[in-house]
Amino acid sequence: RPAAAPRPESKNRVDLPGVRHIVAVASGKGGVGKSTTAANLALALAGLGLRIGLLDADIYGPSVPKLFGLGGRRPELRDGRIIVPIEVFGIRVMSIGFLVDEEAPMIWRGPMVMSAVTQLLRDVDWGELDILVVDMPPGTGDAQLTLAQAVPLAGAVVVSTPQDLALIDARRGVAMFEKVDVPILGIVENMSYFVCPNCGSRHDIFAHGGARDEAARLGVPFLGEIPLTMAIREGSDGGRPIVIDAPDGPHAVVYREIATLV
Ligand code: ADP
Repeated sequence: RPAAAPRPESKNRVDLPGVRHIVAVASGKGGVGKSTTAANLALALAGLGLRIGLLDADIYGPSVPKLFGLGGRRPELRDGRIIVPIEVFGIRVMSIGFLVDEEAPMIWRGPMVMSAVTQLLRDVDWGELDILVVDMPPGTGDAQLTLAQAVPLAGAVVVSTPQDLALIDARRGVAMFEKVDVPILGIVENMSYFVCPNCGSRHDIFAHGGARDEAARLGVPFLGEIPLTMAIREGSDGGRPIVIDAPDGPHAVVYREIATLV
């Protein structure tokens, strides 16, 4: 991979000397499956023998505690200040959800978002990592932009569902990263299609293929199609993402393929 683009000087700038590459998983809007994709991608990358960390920077709705069955867990502190990420399924994870009450509504203003996220980057002892996957807050506003400038991102994966409206947001996401010279590693189409468990027939609920077309239009790689399935949802809600829960199943294979493309 080419070296990350130089960043403008910023007071939020964070250096992570032990981390070789930082990859953002982003989406133009919430609910498209960004966190599910980030978690399974991180696990699939670890399956390739890489040392992986996952930072849940989605402070509006942190999902790592739930995705990994770590609700109520608190990370240990070293010297009263340095946060030790929690090891789970062979990766190191950290989430703002470990530090605040998950049920409490969080009202964040832009600058607070930034300081929370930079603190998560700065105060966590990630150790030596090949890749730190960052589950970004959804959207393409100031907070996302500042985060993209705070750390040297090796690239960004943009997750979208196939609907036109989601694709417009995905396009905004791509444009935002391009504006700050972060390479787009590709677009993933989540909830791409549905296969009926009873009759086996396939249904393109939100239409299908829109993200592939959009990627072609934007001249960025298309990374893969993830179907809408009960298994993925149940794995996520049950604290065992599908790459761990059914490692030889068809869905884990898709995430592993995406991992090799990233
Ligand atoms: P985001 O991070 O974009 O807000 P999440 O990853 O939290 O989205 O996903 C939103 C909801 O959709 C979760 O309940 C998750 O389990 C579910 N989900 C995500 N991707 C899929 C999929 N491919 N099939 C079924 N359910 C999914």
